[in-house]
Order: sequence, then structure tokens, then C-alpha cells
Amino acid sequence: MNKRDYYEVLGLSKGASDAEIKKAYRSLAKKYHPDMNKEPGAEEKFKEINEAYEVLSDPQKKATYDQFGHAGMDGAGFGGFGQGGFSSAGFDDLNDIFGSFFGGGFGGGSRRASNGPRKGQDRYMQMRISFMDAIFGKTETIKVDLDEQCSDCSGTGAYSKSDIQTCSTCHGTGSVMQQQRTVFGVMQTQGPCPDCGGTGKKILRKCTKCNGKGYEHKRVEVEVKIPAGIQSGQQLRVSGKGERGTNGGPNGDLFIEIIVASHEKFVREGRNIYIDVPISNVDAALGCTIDVPTVYGEVELTIPAGTQTGTQFRIRGKGVKDLRNSEPGDQYVEISVEIPKKLSREERELYMKLRDLNRKEGKSVFEKFKDAFK
Ligand SMILES: [Zn+2]
Ligand SMILES: [Zn+2]
Repeated sequence: MNKRDYYEVLGLSKGASDAEIKKAYRSLAKKYHPDMNKEPGAEEKFKEINEAYEVLSDPQKKATYDQFGHAGMDGAGFGGFGQGGFSSAGFDDLNDIFGSFFGGGFGGGSRRASNGPRKGQDRYMQMRISFMDAIFGKTETIKVDLDEQCSDCSGTGAYSKSDIQTCSTCHGTGSVMQQQRTVFGVMQTQGPCPDCGGTGKKILRKCTKCNGKGYEHKRVEVEVKIPAGIQSGQQLRVSGKGERGTNGGPNGDLFIEIIVASHEKFVREGRNIYIDVPISNVDAALGCTIDVPTVYGEVELTIPAGTQTGTQFRIRGKGVKDLRNSEPGDQYVEISVEIPKKLSREERELYMKLRDLNRKEGKSVFEKFKDAFK
């Protein structure tokens, strides 16, 4: 089943501004809200509108959707919306951390978050795929070494919640002020708290599963869904498979750049595919029917009599399916007329006859050319 374009769902065109998206969503959501609208299909419509808005209102999801369309939205591994990030338990912890942090009276801008949860760094890798896999898509399983948040302690490193205490040295801020006497006078510098290592917390009893680290090193298998129609240089985002976050923050993401191998005969440019097809000079002169290879199998093509080298024929719909809409491109067939390099005795005799005939009828190409110089 083809999903409707999210912009279309909201009655917008691609490139609509955030304000337009918000406005369109508000009026449509009001119109189709199941409490207000009892028409059949209104609820479905309401869900569709919400789904579209959820993606288009999120800058990161929107960017992925703009680049890959619906192919970027589904499936584990690719795009990875809704997975990774925080479990609900992790989210509570995050609120706790923020709560105690801001409650402690240290809301000041530049000082903040030395001990707050921070997302880990993104990782980057390349994946080579074949020409055909890029056209038809593929699910590839890769192995990734990473640190995953400990499931027993949700990354806190503590045996239980009551084992987490605010560090008394830095009062939970994770940093301390140090005074230094210099030639310019007394300087105050800020450094990480030596007692808690900058976390702002003291752990009384450690989690037994991860030994207080808050994470476990793992080698995991990740399914990467490569959408049909992907091009070299495009990146897939696998959520939460990057470097470890700090202080209970989520892992970074893994970005996979796709490198598409070239094909021996097919050349792809965007949604179109190009192929050079050789035919004999006799077939070119007389015309013929040939079975041309396409990525979907052979297609019969009629070559009219008198076809010249370099003539291009278009086979509609045999190109690549676009990532955004499922409209395929075309295949272009360029003919190259081949002159035989060796002739059999019989062929030679036939060519000689042909030449005599041409001369008699005044059809010699070269003589016609020379007329211009007389
Ligand atoms: Zn401390
Ligand atoms: Zn643990």
C-alpha cells in the first residue's frame, strides 16, 4: 500500500515553513478530531494528520523524510525513530537529574550541564553495496561494538535509587571553584570536583551487573534497512548505535554512508539508467528488433532502418524508483553501430557488390562529400 506524502496529508507542498506546517496541522486536527467529527473515516484521517505532523515538526525526522521519503521512516535500523533514545525508566532518571540540578540553584548559563546527561558522539562508517542492491534495496546485518546502557541500573551505576547521593563537596554541580594566587591577583578557576569526578553524585552501593560503570560493552547485530533507490553518498542514520553518552545520556547515532559499486554495463544518473548497445551495420541499415537488458529483465526494442551510431531510445519506466515517490525513471539505450573488422570471403563478395551498386547509383558518400570542394 502506498502511503500518502506527509506534506500532501497536511495540504502543503514540499518546502513548507515550520509556521505553515503548524498552522495546517492545527486547523486539520480540529476539523478531524474524533470528538468533533463523527463522519466515517475521520478518525483514520486524524491519525494520518498526527503522524505527518509528528515527523514534519521534528527537524531531524523532517530532514530524513525530505531526503528519503517514507523509506526513511519505517523499519528498525534505518532512521530509527522511536528506538534507542530513552526508555521510560531512563526518562524518569533524566528528570530526576535535571530536577536536582536546577533545584540546587545553579541555573546559570555557562556553568550548566558539566554533570548533566549528554548524548554521545555520533559514529560514521561506510558500506559498499552492489549496483542492483541500490536499486532494489536490501536489509544488511552488521556487527557493531558499542557501550550500551546497563539495563539493571539504567546507566546510573548504582545498586538502587537510594544508593545515589548528591556529592557534598560540590553540592551536585560536579565542579568546584579553586582560588589561585597569581601576579595579577587572586584568580578563580572552575574545575571538576575531585570527590565525584564531575558527576555531582556519590554512589553508595554499586550496581552488580556493570560494576558501577553504568554501561556494558557489547557486540551487537544491527539490521540496516537500505531503501530501494538509494544513491552513492547518501547516509542512513541508525539511532543510538554511536558512542556512549555521559551521565545517563543516550548513545550517539551511527551514520552509514552508502557507496554504490558501478555496474559493468548500466550507468545510473539519478532516476535514469543508461546503457550502450552495439548492433551491426547491417542491422542498423535494415532495422531490427533486439532484446535489451534492463534491471528488471529484457525488454524488446525496435530499431528502425537507417539508425545511426549515437541514436538514443527511451524505454519508459525501466529506470530507478525514486525514494520519495514510487515513480520510476526511464532507461536510455544508446546505439553504437559496429563495423566488422574481419570479413569472410562470402561477406567480402557481398560488400563488393554493394559498393559497385552504390557507385553506379551515384550514392558514394565520399564522392558527395567532395562535391563541396569543387
Ligand atoms: Zn562532587
Ligand atoms: Zn548497572
